[in-house]
Amino acid sequence: MDGNHLDNDLSRVIAADKANVWHHLFQHKVLEENDPRIIVEGKGMRVWDQNGKEWLDAVSGGVWTVNVGYGRESIAKAVHDQILKMCYFAQAAGSVPGALFAEKLIEKMPGMSRVYYVNSGSEANEKAFKMVRQIAHKKYGGKKTKILYRDRDYHGSTLATMSAGGQQERNMQYGPFAPDFIKVPHCMEYRKHEHGMEHLEGEELGIAMANLIEEVILQEGPDTVGALCLEPVTAGGGVIEAPEGYWPRVQEICKQYDVLLHIDEVVCGIGRTGTEWFGYQHYGIKPDFVTMAKGVASGYAAIAVMVTTEEVFNMFKDDASDPMNYFRDISTFGGCTAGPAAALENMRIIEDEGLLENCTNMGARLRGNLEALMEKHAVIGDVRGKGLFMGAELVSDRDTKEPAPEAKVQAVIAECGAQGVIIGATNRSVPGRNNTLCFSPALIATADDIDKITEAVDVALTRVFG
Ligand code: PMP
Repeated sequence: MDGNHLDNDLSRVIAADKANVWHHLFQHKVLEENDPRIIVEGKGMRVWDQNGKEWLDAVSGGVWTVNVGYGRESIAKAVHDQILKMCYFAQAAGSVPGALFAEKLIEKMPGMSRVYYVNSGSEANEKAFKMVRQIAHKKYGGKKTKILYRDRDYHGSTLATMSAGGQQERNMQYGPFAPDFIKVPHCMEYRKHEHGMEHLEGEELGIAMANLIEEVILQEGPDTVGALCLEPVTAGGGVIEAPEGYWPRVQEICKQYDVLLHIDEVVCGIGRTGTEWFGYQHYGIKPDFVTMAKGVASGYAAIAVMVTTEEVFNMFKDDASDPMNYFRDISTFGGCTAGPAAALENMRIIEDEGLLENCTNMGARLRGNLEALMEKHAVIGDVRGKGLFMGAELVSDRDTKEPAPEAKVQAVIAECGAQGVIIGATNRSVPGRNNTLCFSPALIATADDIDKITEAVDVALTRVFG
């Protein structure tokens, strides 16, 4: 990198941004006194801003997206060649990369069968919700319209997906929400006391937490509940993996009450949790819907998909004499071929470079380093996650588990930034308590990258908390 990324136009670009852009999840008042950060270039694990400052990106593009790292020429070429040949046609017709990526994806998802193309995680989730509702009307006479979602989980930014949003901080000020979305309790071991389960451990705890879902189904009436939507490892709610025993019991409950299981792999999908392609595959469960977005093309193109089973697919195919009996839904940009072209190459890279294995190994190193920091810094109350998807929850008091003040958590992030390392914080469940540092480096991370990240955190924690 030459360090002169915007030499000619630096002030023009900054002025254009300040005058015209509305940034996401951002309070713009600070830009009255400061310049925005503009990320100009990226290569591998690193990005460069407008001032030529180099950053080690420990969060894959901010929101766990760029799984294969920046600057992949082969993805650029695949997209370039594809869009020159055929850029777009509505998905009622097929496309070459659409067919080939679907085939490759289904190969990695035994038991799943059909790929539906859209362009964001929220949209993929809404498509599954719509299918559940249509099935309720087709098969259950308008009953079974209820969709269960879990406290602390997140499924998107649209009003329907927010109706299934378990994070109070994100939802406040945006209601009222859509009806028939019902919350079930979280499965967070660290905060099991919130369910009065302090005395339970391991599998017993997992089963008891899954049974909380059954209680809700029984309260609502099993004949009204159509689906259960869960993240395999909760992301924005605090990086939460359910205790052992949870998932098999969830599967049993779904089967018993005829509830479709929708797994939201928007974050975990395509290798983020290591070893397996998908988070749910660690737990031996069989979903009815799987949605994914971020890592599908590592952010090189906007693509998300909803995948379902042959059984669900057939419900929308049988009885073709009824002109209304098909999934009457469209997504304009689901027909962009850049998405599947990039996704196909992204998957090839992950396979050929052994990135699932690297993710497992580097994830273990990241966990080990964070656990070592926990010995040193009392403010770390818990370290958790899977693969290269880890969280370190900061608390003011390890006994009460009182979350550390958000201003201090932000100061830790800023101190990491001062050392050239970008990390994030999450736990948007409780307003003002965004207290879990999160780490999701690209799956190409080396041992040296991982150590640099945790060394920066060590220094930052000392500076902020002493
Ligand atoms: N589900 C989960 C688990 C997510 O983390 C997100 C995004 N952070 C979404 C869905 C929504 O995805 P998108 O922003 O692409 O709509």
